[in-house]
Amino acid sequence: MIRRVPLGLSNKHIHLSQEDLDYLFGEGYELTPVKMLRQPGQFASQEKVTIVGPKGKLENIRILGPVRKETQLEVNIADGFTLGIRQVPIRNSGHLDGTPGFIIEGPDGKRLIKDKGMIVAERHIHLSAEEGERYKISDKDTVSVRLKGPRGLVFNNVICRVGDGNLSEMHIDVEEGNAAGARNNQLACIIDPLTFTKDDMLIHDEGEPTIMVGDLPEMEVEAADGTGDYASEVELESESAL
Ligand SMILES: [Zn+2]
Repeated sequence: MIRRVPLGLSNKHIHLSQEDLDYLFGEGYELTPVKMLRQPGQFASQEKVTIVGPKGKLENIRILGPVRKETQLEVNIADGFTLGIRQVPIRNSGHLDGTPGFIIEGPDGKRLIKDKGMIVAERHIHLSAEEGERYKISDKDTVSVRLKGPRGLVFNNVICRVGDGNLSEMHIDVEEGNAAGARNNQLACIIDPLTFTKDDMLIHDEGEPTIMVGDLPEMEVEAADGTGDYASEVELESESAL
């Protein structure tokens, strides 16, 4: 069975609880969406914060909305070094026990000390319940995924999140993406352990052209809001650099 999902590269970002948003931005503050993301209801907000660690800081960290139950900072491994934290744990979203703390600096310099919440996100795939059924993948299944291209790689230990509120998309961070020469909206191929062929596991990747969303007209790749217009945090990062 051919199972492909679009790739979304995640750069460092933060999710805030309403309580922490209130503290940093003012009571009852609401985030301002600037771009809808592919996952239904998720958006990149206009608001940014600074993160301070023991040895350094990360500026212009974008807040992704909507607010969550708990504040969670998602960084690349190299960002941990910048902050002075060598072993940021690789965790599934929401699993924050024992993770490093940090300081969040709001727009007017107000500082909030968090005693946990910094993670490197575990690589994962989102699928709706219907997509999970079609692909024969259940929630919490682990799969291997091949990214084709001149720097092609097979990613192991990819956890699947299947259910309502999800839409087919693989999320890896920019370090993992760069290692594979990957691009946003490239199609990632989920390897089927029952039917995989030698071609799926070739040690020598031929460096075939990267398959992009749009190369396959039969793929369902509309954005959640039906506009066909969704962004990754990487695109936003480069936009904001302009
Ligand atoms: Zn995700």
